[in-house]
Amino acid sequence: MAKNIDWSSLGFGYIKTDWRYVANYKDGQWDEGALTEDGTITMSECAGVLQYAQTCFEGLKAYTTKDGKIVCFRPDLNAERMIDSCERLIMPTFPKERFIEAVKRVVEANKEWVPPYGSGASLYLRPFMFGYDSVIGVKPASEYQFRIFATPVGPYFKGGVKPLTVRISDYDRAAPRGTGHVKAGLNYAMSLYAITDAHEKGFDENIYPDSATRTYIEETGGANIIFVTKDGTVVTPKSDTILPSITRRSLMYVAEHVLGMKVEQRKVRVDELSDFVECGLCGTAAVISPVGKIVDHGKEIVYGMEDMGPVIKKLYHTLRGIQMGEIEAPEGWIETICE
Ligand SMILES: *Cc1c(COP(=O)(O)O)cnc(C)c1O
Repeated sequence: MAKNIDWSSLGFGYIKTDWRYVANYKDGQWDEGALTEDGTITMSECAGVLQYAQTCFEGLKAYTTKDGKIVCFRPDLNAERMIDSCERLIMPTFPKERFIEAVKRVVEANKEWVPPYGSGASLYLRPFMFGYDSVIGVKPASEYQFRIFATPVGPYFKGGVKPLTVRISDYDRAAPRGTGHVKAGLNYAMSLYAITDAHEKGFDENIYPDSATRTYIEETGGANIIFVTKDGTVVTPKSDTILPSITRRSLMYVAEHVLGMKVEQRKVRVDELSDFVECGLCGTAAVISPVGKIVDHGKEIVYGMEDMGPVIKKLYHTLRGIQMGEIEAPEGWIETICE
């Protein structure tokens, strides 16, 4: 039985569900892991995560498809990306097969929290890992905890699509040869100042240019960017300091192989923004949210504040359709959890 929740009015906030997965790493190995009802963590005041921010995370969703299955979208890519994050932060990696198994167990155990098909809501999953034991000299922790909790989240476009107004940021998100390409908590800690400042000034998000030259577009604080040219080519920026969004990679694949569009991954200059006709931000939360306007230090580039542009709309509906089981998915994209 599904929980008695008004799924359509849910926002994006933490709601404690019944079960979460926990595995501990000690003496060079992971224990067997288990589900627990305990949503709290007790650790040393000197834990590596608390002192030196040794932590990374992932985000993915479980939802009900048209034919009533509970599924996840490409959890193998979250597992692989978390391995990359852990390696960059000198944390032990959590094996891919175990990651997928843990995702399935958490969803299955919280089945009643998975919103029904058509509600637009989903069960958001948050895998994360952190340094657990005491570290005072600067070095990696030697004990770690890996966890996955689940929390139901509402439809992203509640009350219709509202294109975003974003600005070109004067702050940086990712240093060259830093950690921009991995999902480290520290990337978010340092972006909080910039996003708070953006909101105070009436912007929804920051677009970060490359921090070395401030010439090329990278991404926003938590989403990759796609553009559409006048002739319908889908373009996404190429850079070593962009976090490789699974949504963006999937959309580019869909554009090329399902919809037969022309796609390019290349450097995108800040001064060519006005050559594009559509722009969208991609990530698990929204799939794509349209950008209506970019403000570059007083200069406004307007794509349209009414609705999604036609190409972005097509991409959005195709990927959503694949996720919801309405359109046939490329091989291996949908992981079935419960039939
Ligand atoms: C998580 C994240 C994204 C989106 O990735 P998805 O896998 O599509 O959810 C984009 N940019 C940053 C910086 C992120 O942390």
